[in-house]
Amino acid sequence: MDTLKKCFEKINIRGEVSFDEPLARHTTFRVGGPADVFVTPADADALIVALSCARENKIPVFLLGGGANILVSDRGIRGVVVSMQGFSRITHSDDRLVVGSGLPVSDAAEYAAAHGLEGLGFLYSMPGSVGGALWMNARCYGSSISDIIEHVDIITEDLQLERYTVKPEQWNYKISPFQTRRVAILEATFRMSPDDPESIRARMECYRADRDAKGHFSAPSAGSVFKNNREFGEPTGAIIDKLGLRGFRIGDAKVSDVHANIVVNAGHATARDVDAVIHRLETEVSERLGLRLEREVLRVGEWD
Ligand SMILES: Cc1cc2nc3c(=O)[nH]c(=O)nc-3n(C[C@H](O)[C@H](O)[C@H](O)COP(=O)(O)OP(=O)(O)OC[C@H]3O[C@@H](n4cnc5c(N)ncnc54)[C@H](O)[C@@H]3O)c2cc1C
Repeated sequence: MDTLKKCFEKINIRGEVSFDEPLARHTTFRVGGPADVFVTPADADALIVALSCARENKIPVFLLGGGANILVSDRGIRGVVVSMQGFSRITHSDDRLVVGSGLPVSDAAEYAAAHGLEGLGFLYSMPGSVGGALWMNARCYGSSISDIIEHVDIITEDLQLERYTVKPEQWNYKISPFQTRRVAILEATFRMSPDDPESIRARMECYRADRDAKGHFSAPSAGSVFKNNREFGEPTGAIIDKLGLRGFRIGDAKVSDVHANIVVNAGHATARDVDAVIHRLETEVSERLGLRLEREVLRVGEWD
């Protein structure tokens, strides 16, 4: 740990570096212990410096977007957490929108609407960054972010800048090619369609209101805990609900009263509480219905 800190104290990174940063501050669950080193690079060069320092010293790296789809353990993350927040540039030219990976998807949708560009509106008010949405292939209201990607600029495993052009066969429901590689997503270009800003905004407002009605903003969470599976014949939330598990609680972690596929932090939950609730849902659905749920929320950090 000391070597790790010394290593990051020595190098000069444009951006911010802190130590023992509580990750509860950076996750939508509002749980999670400290990151040994927490780096927020200001630009691609600084990111490469941080990644090469970690690589030379065999230090593990976790890339953090908005922290909206992760459950960080109470013991936190060993090694370096790199926040991509600094990559927040957004521009457009005709119907092409270029967005830095650290920008919240909602901000990108707002910018696009203001410039009469539709395409990202369905993601409006979904927590998280553009980079996280690409990594997860975020999906809602019948669309996935992969539907509108033209290309994505990344830093490869060998710390090279590369332009990834979409190959449709690499994308599927909540599957992206970045899940099987260790790359940093820097920026993406989206194909948008021109539309009237007021109409785009009206649709975005409907999505926001729908999320509000589903209790998305009433308590800290990471949205749906499990993926839906068509073969199960109904959404995962309905399956959990039927088993009477709505409101099921361990400590301050509980199944949402509004949507049974969402686990919320109802006060001072620990990551362990949240994980225990999720585990119980998996077990009940498996033992009582013989169905194997697939987690969408990622467990990150040091777990038992
Ligand atoms: C209230 C609520 C509602 C939600 N609704 C939906 C929904 O409707 N549909 C949906 O799909 N999801 C939903 N989610 C989940 C979440 O918003 C999405 O998965 C989102 O895309 C996660 O983005 P993030 O930036 O927070 O990623 P994080 O949680 O920070 O990270 C997720 C993964 O992406 C990787 N990653 C992040 N940024 C980068 C980068 N720049 N380069 C490389 N890797 C990166 C991380 O390493 C990690 O593996 C919801 C969450 C909440 C809290």
